[in-house]
Amino acid sequence: MNLQTKLSVLADAAKYDASCASSGSVKRNSVGGKGVGSTSGGMGICHSYAPDGRCISLLKILLTNFCIYECSYCVNRASSSVKRARFSVDEVVNLTLDFYKRNYIEGLFLSSGIIQSSDYTMEQLVNVARTLRKVHDFRGYIHLKTIPDASPELLQEAGLYADRLSINIELPSKQALTLYAPEKNPATIHRSMGQLRHHIDESKESRQQASKIISSTKRKPSKPSRFIYSPAGQSTQMIVGADASSDSKILTLSNYLYGKYQMRRVYYSAFSPIPDAAQMLPAKAPPLVREHRLYQADWLLRFYGFTVDEISQPNDERGGMLDLDIDPKLSWAIRNRDFFPVNINRAPKEALLRVPGIGAIGAKKVMQSRQFRRLRFGDLAKCGLSVKKVAPFIEAADYSPDARLLESEHLKTHFVERSSPQMALF
Ligand code: SF4
Repeated sequence: MNLQTKLSVLADAAKYDASCASSGSVKRNSVGGKGVGSTSGGMGICHSYAPDGRCISLLKILLTNFCIYECSYCVNRASSSVKRARFSVDEVVNLTLDFYKRNYIEGLFLSSGIIQSSDYTMEQLVNVARTLRKVHDFRGYIHLKTIPDASPELLQEAGLYADRLSINIELPSKQALTLYAPEKNPATIHRSMGQLRHHIDESKESRQQASKIISSTKRKPSKPSRFIYSPAGQSTQMIVGADASSDSKILTLSNYLYGKYQMRRVYYSAFSPIPDAAQMLPAKAPPLVREHRLYQADWLLRFYGFTVDEISQPNDERGGMLDLDIDPKLSWAIRNRDFFPVNINRAPKEALLRVPGIGAIGAKKVMQSRQFRRLRFGDLAKCGLSVKKVAPFIEAADYSPDARLLESEHLKTHFVERSSPQMALF
């Protein structure tokens, strides 16, 4: 099989992985002619979009789509009849360098099916990253999808070369994982995530100690360490809609993963039906908007001070599912009307962030502007707020909302009719 065919098979096989963001790494570059590539400035980035709208990097590939495992939700499972291909380590290295030099990509996202054994596969992945970094001095971004039951030594080495490591949690419930992916062990996945967190923390601590020594002695180290363990942290991916787990359950698990393992991101990937699928899997994909609502809710958890229970509860009127018609913040506001109106001249930041239509940037602008004068209704647009969206929920110096609308049982309809389909962040 020629290289081009392998590339088409293995790039296509990688499209099911949603975790393609390259944010949060350290800045490296090749200014001065040293090394190859850069993680700063976004130079040479070439992303494309899959037909389902997901952002995928051009060189987002699998090392191989052969696999000895039988995860029933996966198109590459051992019994699947898909066309198979396998790259050698050198082929991936050379493709990465060639594409980088042509400005097609900003780095490499590498995952793999399991061949021979978890350790053997992980060794191959680490080999690619090690060769790029140590032989070619590659300074672009590397994301390695990690095999959770590979040996701890290999997981440790992977983080010396990769900007980001990820281990897929796969499914929201341990029972579903055991049923759908019999070779995968939830305890092993959690243990490996814990190991990655430990190495990341250790690396941070040693850098902090080193910088304390530098600032107290005022002397620069003779040779600064080039290796920081997985500087962009770790992330994970969860398949949504393959099992019956509610959004509330999904968000509870995400919240746990953020807290326990300091995940940088949990990616949600709507289940895609696959050919010859097991009968226990749904025949239809969940609506893509469900994935979008989960990302919005995830954002509320991480940056807006919401708890999982405020967003969704297992026993609420939707059975723990998010409202697909409106975003989760608006949904919370409609269920908590007593909280409103929020006075934009007096409310603390935490309260401003709960107003539908006020995001982090909008809240900051409101707080900066009100230092100089009392804000009036006409100032909302100047702060970059969506006036129509915030209007029912705020008070300004010259404005009070229409109490009849805020109390109306048709408040939700007011937004759905106006903005359907609603895909803005908040
Ligand atoms: S381990 Fe499971 S999810 Fe990963 S490629 Fe193999 S069958 Fe697919």
